[in-house]
Amino acid sequence: MPDPTPHFWEVFFDVYEALPRQGPGNRDNTARALALCGELPPAPTILDLGCGSGAQTLHLAALTNGRITAVDRHAPFVATLARSVANRGLGNRVTPLFGDMAAPPIAPGSVDLIWSEGAAYFLGIECALQLWRPLLRPGGHVAFTEAVWRQSDPPPEAREMWTGEYPAMADAAANLLLAERCGYEVRGHFTLPDAAWWDDFYTPMEQRLAELRPKYAGDTEASATLDALSGEIELHRRYSACYGYEFVVLRCGN
Ligand code: SAH
Repeated sequence: MPDPTPHFWEVFFDVYEALPRQGPGNRDNTARALALCGELPPAPTILDLGCGSGAQTLHLAALTNGRITAVDRHAPFVATLARSVANRGLGNRVTPLFGDMAAPPIAPGSVDLIWSEGAAYFLGIECALQLWRPLLRPGGHVAFTEAVWRQSDPPPEAREMWTGEYPAMADAAANLLLAERCGYEVRGHFTLPDAAWWDDFYTPMEQRLAELRPKYAGDTEASATLDALSGEIELHRRYSACYGYEFVVLRCGN
């Protein structure tokens, strides 16, 4: 990726704000992870952290009777979710909030389920799990997805891209150990299937990149940003066997 200048971010968000989601995932896998939580209260209190434009927030609203507070620090994503919530008449159950997922505005010990798809790595898994634990009720759950290596010796091209993007990327087993060290019990985990990368993420991203090419023709920096994003998609086409996204479901021991 090029250095993140303001123009980089402008182009980046021109791509990402148009996508149904901002990372790998889909309804089936949200449902599968939710099932790993076992018995939740009939109307659980749910925090969706790093919600983006809220695809999984809306799935959670459909899959539970919960009250969901969804937090993101990118205001246009929060505004998109607020519109979806209003259009679906979910205002009594879903509250989109602009804010920092490191300090969600919710009382300690009050949350049944913390959900975070493709966002915990911004804080670092260990930091996120430690910060979030006091928010949970005893026996509360955390479900998150996280990029992981699936092979110990990935091809140099894949290693180089991910080392630039996410130097601390570990494998699934290391993350489970870390979760246990942070005081959680592992309820289950699984690797997202390829459909979760393509259907709501890379396929619409490819369409968006093609749409934006004419807008940024002649703009070298913008074109390099679009190239970097399409390079990431190509890399996934070639090397998806050596890295992936792992859904991890944890129960809080205290
Ligand atoms: N969960 C969504 C979005 C994933 S992208 C999905 O799967 O589609 C990661 C999101 O985390 C981005 O929307 C980014 O704005 C948000 N984010 C990163 N750091 C954050 C922080 N400290 N507080 C709140 N949101 C954050």
